[in-house]
Amino acid sequence: MITVCRTRTLRADLAAAEEATAPERSPAMGHPVTITSFGFLHSPPPAAHLVADLRTHFRDPHVSPELRHLTAHDQAVRDAVLSTPGIPAVVNALAATVAGYLAGPSAGPVAVAVGCAGGRHRAATVSAELADRLTTAGHQVVLVHRDLHRAVVERRCAAAHPEDPTGCIGPHDAVTVLDRHGARATGCEHHGARLLASLDGARVVSGPHAPGAALRVHRAAGTIRPFPWADGPRTEPSQRSHAENRTRG
Ligand SMILES: [Zn+2]
Repeated sequence: MITVCRTRTLRADLAAAEEATAPERSPAMGHPVTITSFGFLHSPPPAAHLVADLRTHFRDPHVSPELRHLTAHDQAVRDAVLSTPGIPAVVNALAATVAGYLAGPSAGPVAVAVGCAGGRHRAATVSAELADRLTTAGHQVVLVHRDLHRAVVERRCAAAHPEDPTGCIGPHDAVTVLDRHGARATGCEHHGARLLASLDGARVVSGPHAPGAALRVHRAAGTIRPFPWADGPRTEPSQRSHAENRTRG
């Protein structure tokens, strides 16, 4: 029995030895990487092994009027995003993480999703840069810009004063504030309260999908000073909150 097997065993041993001394095959090269850029303001992130959320930590080119209506297809936007401190490190880290996934014992396709607010500037630029990086390294990459083609999303509600730098909190149709002349502005509870506090004789009504919002806004407005984003002395009753005026009363 041993004699019968000897030749086969020897061949198998040789084959194994050959495989062991062969250059290491990279399993990474065989599996595609899908990179999807998206905007959280449009819909939730796509399913992915890695999701990078760029919304909070990196400057949004949207705030620059000259960049707002451009996209990652424009060099000016790419320059703005890629020169943002931290972004190159994020691209490097994502590339390294993808390589790590592809090197795993059960390596398979890797899906990466990179999101920002509107999906037109930061996420699309970082996704394209990551795709370039991985393609150069020899990986097979599919790049999808889910929301880049979509219209610019209006970031703030109509109740947000142009000089108020704060962002909206909650739905943009939570309340409608009416001034004493009947002019109206519909907005989020945060800006509704700040607007209500800034107007004399204004009132607030809840939006159809926000029961109780008007009451919350009315209460909040009582402790907010008029035009709270503006500096300056608050010596006159008209410059102070209703609560402050009551205390001094
Ligand atoms: Zn708002």
